[in-house]
Amino acid sequence: MTLGPSADQWAAAVAAVRSAGPDDEIQLICHVNPDGDALGSMLGFGLGLRRLGFTRVRATFPGDFVVPDPYREIPGVDLLVPESDAFAEPRLILVFDVASESRLGALAARVADAPASVVLDHHASNTGFGGVQLVDPRAAATSVVADGLLSRLGVPLDAEIAECLYIALATDTGSFKFDMTTVSVHELAARLIATGIRPGEISRRIFDSKPFGAMKLTGEVIGRAVLEPSAAAGRGMVWTYATLADLERHGQPPYVLDALIDPVRSVAEADVSMVVKQVAPGEWSVSLRSKGAVDVSGVAVSQGGGGHRLAAGFTGYGEASDVVDTVRRLLDEHLN
Ligand code: 5GP
Ligand code: MN
Repeated sequence: MTLGPSADQWAAAVAAVRSAGPDDEIQLICHVNPDGDALGSMLGFGLGLRRLGFTRVRATFPGDFVVPDPYREIPGVDLLVPESDAFAEPRLILVFDVASESRLGALAARVADAPASVVLDHHASNTGFGGVQLVDPRAAATSVVADGLLSRLGVPLDAEIAECLYIALATDTGSFKFDMTTVSVHELAARLIATGIRPGEISRRIFDSKPFGAMKLTGEVIGRAVLEPSAAAGRGMVWTYATLADLERHGQPPYVLDALIDPVRSVAEADVSMVVKQVAPGEWSVSLRSKGAVDVSGVAVSQGGGGHRLAAGFTGYGEASDVVDTVRRLLDEHLN
């Protein structure tokens, strides 16, 4: 899939939202272990629904109900409920930043059963689940798609909606550094900033603030990184891992590990970078990045995961070394 939503798909999404009455239950869902794009696009859209007069809007994500500290004060956070408090039989479901049903856990069945559902996403690996698909692989973030639907619904941007969409856009573009940081990305950022939001203050809160223990943990995990110059058919791979014991020793929640891929991917000698994060005994959440030579989403999809060409992930099993061995082998297979 390379093209964005068709005119018919946009019209169907608008019709799906308008098919709900002001007192109908509307459930918003984003992916497990939500990041800035998942939460920002979902809550920004949820605030937009409120502006349209919808009174019964809830937002949730599957699994442990942990809202990372940096997002505790994001506008619309009051829409968030644990999975157990999500509407059982909502009139309408909207799904944000979810490439496949596996990222919805037990909530996948609710999407399948809903009278109307709309999926807003930007992953090329999106599997096409749900009623109406608004999937644009060219979009830098799901919030670009959310902005497109909000404007078609006639919702004006205000500072609260804009802060949510800005957090999402800044998260998925690496603070406007990555390749998909196009003219239209900056045009959207300009429209968002024009509402009066403070990009500097938002960036400090979301990206540049962490507990001392998180910094110490980061130092330790980076300190054990391994560079394999001959991996990925000579393009090089750098990797590290973190265990539940590491988190416990430093008193840190799992989400602090998600930022670790950024220093690791900066290693000049490696095209491919990887962080293997333990989520349970024998189970690892794997983050993969490429500087351009390797389509890491191919590796991730072959392991039941997904993502983008240069940023992808999957769940691996066994020891951390088993996961590294698997990726090393798959990279060589993909490249030879
Ligand atoms: P991250 O490494 O930041 O967790 O994820 C990078 C990209 O890969 C994101 O676009 C994310 O949606 C995708 N991704 C990460 N883990 C998984 C996974 O287990 N399954 C799928 N389908 N996609 C994943
Ligand atoms: Mn995203």
